[in-house]
Parts: sequence; C-alpha cells; structure tokens
Amino acid sequence: MTNNGGAVNPFETAQRQVDICAKYLNLDAGMTEILKHPKRELTVNFPVRMDNGSYRVFTGYRVQYNMARGPTKGGIRYHPQVTLDEVRALAAWMTWKCAVVSLPYGGAKGGVICDPKAMSKGELERMTRRFASEISPIIGPEIDVPAPDVYTDSQTMAWIMDTYSMQKGYSVPGVVTGKPLSIGGSEGRGEATGRGCMYVIREAAKDLGLNMKGASVAVQGFGNAGSVAAKLVHAELGGKIIAVSDTKGGILNKNGLDPVAVEKYKQEKGSVVGFPGSQKISNNELLALDCDVLIPAALENQITRENASSVKAKIIAEAANGPTTPEADEILHKNKVTVLPDVLANAGGVTVSYFEWVQDLQGYFWDVNDVNSRLERVMSGSYRGVAEVAKKHGVHNRTAAYIVAVGRVVEAMRVRGIYP
Ligand code: NAD
Repeated sequence: MTNNGGAVNPFETAQRQVDICAKYLNLDAGMTEILKHPKRELTVNFPVRMDNGSYRVFTGYRVQYNMARGPTKGGIRYHPQVTLDEVRALAAWMTWKCAVVSLPYGGAKGGVICDPKAMSKGELERMTRRFASEISPIIGPEIDVPAPDVYTDSQTMAWIMDTYSMQKGYSVPGVVTGKPLSIGGSEGRGEATGRGCMYVIREAAKDLGLNMKGASVAVQGFGNAGSVAAKLVHAELGGKIIAVSDTKGGILNKNGLDPVAVEKYKQEKGSVVGFPGSQKISNNELLALDCDVLIPAALENQITRENASSVKAKIIAEAANGPTTPEADEILHKNKVTVLPDVLANAGGVTVSYFEWVQDLQGYFWDVNDVNSRLERVMSGSYRGVAEVAKKHGVHNRTAAYIVAVGRVVEAMRVRGIYP
C-alpha cells in the first residue's frame, strides 16, 4: 500500500496537517484537539456466504469525521490493507475537501478489509449488501452519504441504495452517490474526479506560465481518477501523456501515449504493462520522470522524504488521496514544485456527488453540459481561492487549502457552539 514499507500512518499525517494550519488560523488548543478527532466511528464484523458454501467474517468501518457544515460525505473502499487509521485519515480529508470547495457537507469514509479481485460478483454483492445493512443505522441522505472509492463502483452503490431502500420500504436514491444513471445517478459523475483535476491543472499552468499544449504528463494509477485525468488533459488541454502505471508496473513513451488506446489495452489485458510501443518502467521510476505534470492517482504515501527530491515535475496534481507525506511536501516546496493538494485536485468527484444528491432530493435532473459547467466554476473558483491564500501567507497550496477549509469548518463550529 505504501512504497516505503508502510512506515507512515496516514491518520498521523492527517493530524499533523491540522496542527500545521492551526498556527495560521490562531486556533486554540481545544479547537485544534477537536479537529484532530473523528466524531463517530463504527466497526462492523459480519458474515458472508461464499460461493463454496462456507462463511467468512469480514471487517468494515465507517468513520464520520465532522458534521458541522452538513451531512457527512465520503467513499467506501474495498482493499486488503484497509485499516481504521486509514479510514480516519480519509474521513478527515473528506471534511477538508468538502469545505475547500464550499459544499454544505462534513466528511466521512468507509472501508471493508477484503480482496475484491479474488471474489466473485455474487460474493461482492452479498458482502456489499450485508455491509450496507450493518452501517444503515448511521447512513442516509440527511446523515451520511457514501460514494465509490478504490475498488468500488456504480454497481456497488446500486446494491447499497437497493439494500437501504428495501429496509425503508421505499426508494431512497439520495443515500449514496456515484449510482448508475437509471436509479438517480448524475450525468458526468463517472469522470468528475479526473475532469476536476484537469481544470485545476489548467488553472495552475496558467499561473505558472506553463503552456499545456505538448506539456509532458505522467500518471501513477490508471484507474477511474487517473485514466480520466489522462484522457482529458490529453484531449482538452493538449498535454502529452508520456507515462502511466498500475499495480503491475508502469509504461513510458516519451513521444506520447494515446490514453484511450491504453485504456482499451488495460481493459483487454488487465494491465497497462505491455502496451505496444512502450517501455516498461517501475512505479518509482515513473514518479521521478522528467515531466511537466505528475498526477499521482493510486494510493497514499507514494511521494515521501525518500523520493521527493527526485521528483522533476513542475506540477503535482494529487488525484489520489494523501499521496504526499508532510516531509515530502517541504522538500517539494523547497524545490519549487507546485503541489495541487488532494483536497482541491480531486474534489471534482465529491462536487458532482453533491450535484447528484441535490438532483436526487429535487427529483430534477440536469444535462451533462450543465453538470460540467457548474463543476468548472467550482473547481477554478476554488483553485483561485486557495492560490490567493497561498500567496497572502507565503505558504504552499496544501497549507493554503487547509487554511481555507479548516477555517470554514471552524467558523461553522463557532457559530453553532459546542453542545450542550
Ligand atoms: P481505481 O481502483 O479505479 O484505480 C486505482 C488504480 O491505481 C488502479 O489502476 C490500480 O491498478 C492502481 N494502483 C494501485 N496501487 C498502485 C501502486 N502502488 N502503484 C501504481 N498504481 C497502483 O480507484 P480510483 O477511484 O481511481 O481512486 C484512485 C485514488 O483517487 C484513490 O486515492 C482515491 O481515494 C482517489 N479518489 C478517487 C475518486 C473517485 O471519484 N473515484 C475521488 C476522489 C479521490
């Protein structure tokens, strides 16, 4: 899961990030302490009937970090290395992410420890439905609204929506986002994270005077977020995708890869590795490539103190959550690498999730142009807001994004007061 032997605890990273921005917001120790703790955590151990007739017990988590600004929002991850601390960190990041793009949401996250690649569709459906049932007391359109994350997708969301609806006795589309269109999903949701990432890259490139036409781009993790970002940076900004990777390794072609053809190849062969005309590289080599833009779009803790100084990209756009450790941040800042932090760069997904929830609650649906133009406004406006704060305080973009986001959460908590 990490490329440094798993040494970095993502929740400690998330807590340290709060400490860093608390200084700039002049937060007192009490408020800082509140912001460093999740509000609610649920651990569930539940049995699932496997295809061979045996039963297996799975462990899952749902963490609701902070709900000062509204219902909590965040994805569900299926992965063998899910831990409670990872889910806590992801829930904290969701809180800041929703706030940085000004959505009326708090943050949450969920995960189930499992190996989805080794499970049949039937096993995945039964596991998903039972997990949905176990967490159903604490989810709902007004409480906490899950969405897809690593190795979960629109089908997973459909099963959760159906399970929750069966328990209620009526259809509740607003309980999850990232659903198929046929049951209340939104146009544009599937590509929203990658599209939002492309918009912030475009804005940052303008500020840096970097012409994106022909600019070289490397993408670590060619999944939902990474492949869409690659395709749109290529198609809409004219960027040259020189390298992409997945769990099996990376591929490089300095003359440029066609991301649509790579995606088709990955669908057929199961990996990008072996794509005709490309040279095989490791994930570590990909991170150190001589390129203009690096898009980490896999998992957390990929750019660390060990490899940060070898990064040559001018812009790092964090499509993934938590790919850069705080130590790496400092090294990158010193080396004048512009980091577009996860809470901003991948907020397109949750923004269109918010649009989906709004459409579900209204029962009125928008066309894709409407969704994308609203997304573009949110992403470029949020980038500008963060860039201004970065300039004003002389800090890097992550700290600036935290100053904006944490400041908004603190404002909501102050005006609401601490109960009772
Ligand atoms: P995904 O499962 O579709 O894709 C993940 C990809 O990363 C896969 O291609 C996988 O092979 C690859 N990968 C995994 N480990 C790797 C490694 N060590 N090195 C290189 N590649 C590796 O998942 P996704 O939805 O695209 O999520 C990717 C990241 O983006 C996660 O950090 C997730 O939290 C974040 N994110 C996703 C969304 C979304 O809407 N999908 C929104 C915000 C953030």
